[in-house]
Amino acid sequence: MKTIKADVVICGGGLSGLICSLALSRYGISVCTIEKSRHNIQQTKDTRSTAYLLPSINFLIKTGIWKYLSKNINPLRVLSIVNSKNGYPFNQVLNETQFNAKEISKEYFGYNISNYETKKILMKLVKRDKLINFIDDEIISVENFKELLTINLKNKSMVKTKLLIGADGRNSFIRNYYNIKTQITDIDQKAVTFIIQHKESHNNISYEIYDLGGPFTTVPLKSKEEKKSAVIWVNDSIKIDNLLSLKKFELQSEINKRSCNKLGEISVISDLQSSNVSTQLAEKFVDHRMILIGEAAHALPPIGAQGLNLTIKDISVICDLIKKYSTSIGSNEMVAEFNLKRLIDVKTRTTSVNILNKVSYSNNVITRKARDIGLKVLQEVKPIKYLLMKFGLG
Ligand SMILES: Cc1cc2nc3c(=O)[nH]c(=O)nc-3n(C[C@H](O)[C@H](O)[C@H](O)COP(=O)(O)OP(=O)(O)OC[C@H]3O[C@@H](n4cnc5c(N)ncnc54)[C@H](O)[C@@H]3O)c2cc1C
Repeated sequence: MKTIKADVVICGGGLSGLICSLALSRYGISVCTIEKSRHNIQQTKDTRSTAYLLPSINFLIKTGIWKYLSKNINPLRVLSIVNSKNGYPFNQVLNETQFNAKEISKEYFGYNISNYETKKILMKLVKRDKLINFIDDEIISVENFKELLTINLKNKSMVKTKLLIGADGRNSFIRNYYNIKTQITDIDQKAVTFIIQHKESHNNISYEIYDLGGPFTTVPLKSKEEKKSAVIWVNDSIKIDNLLSLKKFELQSEINKRSCNKLGEISVISDLQSSNVSTQLAEKFVDHRMILIGEAAHALPPIGAQGLNLTIKDISVICDLIKKYSTSIGSNEMVAEFNLKRLIDVKTRTTSVNILNKVSYSNNVITRKARDIGLKVLQEVKPIKYLLMKFGLG
């Protein structure tokens, strides 16, 4: 039986676990990252992309990670919210409200990067980092002692550590192991993601197009002539399952219709990837020498690019606390301070995203009318609009 030692153990080598490992290593902390799926970089390409907002980018610059990611990025200059209704061959635009980064004196809101590229780069950095021990294995149990934890792995190795970080996703083993309950809001939605090529340039605009059942969002990707975007289409499960069963030409026609012709003629150039959409919020983020981050702590519907951006805030707080509690990493005081610092912010953002999602999902005439009025108010009452834009950035 092999025994390994590390200041911090991270369970999960998804985006949250990889970014957290690299950030902690930059602070001189020894990290053991444990990932159970051998092919963490999926053989089938992840077609999702992530919009990194400015505060996240600032943190990634500070930790020296950004310079490796910044080759494949596309800026997000404008967010355009479109209200639409059924039409042929394209749905009809009822109204459109644009949020331009310039309105809050920024050049961009952030940058969009494909998850596949990001993971590939982060894995490379992790594997060559001397302070990170990346292990292909699965955590199966944790033994609690006052001054340290013993983490037991499936291959019978043990890791002794001062702090365990659960970054093991929606169905977190660590969260369940510590018996932490989650609040789940599930309105039977799914998301389908894919990449499109379009005739018109995206002009660094992200369109969030609302109709019955949820938003159809295009996010600009880096490409020649700005003619590639990632799409996230959220709708009720039946609609998404129907879409997945369509023949390619039928699917293209549905997508073109739903896009309101905002980007000219569209062709799908990737596989379709679908996932369930629900909100999950852990009732607390910590326990004895343990902190939950990422989707293990908070999983949100893909609206307003909040998911991974919230996680980067979690990681930034952990880095600050590691400095503050350098001689007592993982202590009760440290984990309690993390919980205090993150719970309210995460709850506020989860509530806002949930409200937005319910409003966008609703087929109810009054709710749809409220959405129309809300957008008009935002267009006319600039201070509220700017406040909302700043809140969205985090
Ligand atoms: C369609 C869609 C679009 C999105 N767009 C955005 C966006 O634009 N901006 C944004 O900020 N966020 C976005 N998000 C959210 C973002 O993608 C997620 O927050 C992020 O990918 C979650 O990463 P994670 O590392 O927390 O979890 P995961 O990716 O699920 O990783 C968890 C890892 O832990 C491993 N693991 C599990 N159990 C164990 C164990 N016992 N031992 C060892 N390893 C284990 C798993 O194998 C897995 O690799 C989007 C999400 C979706 C669904």
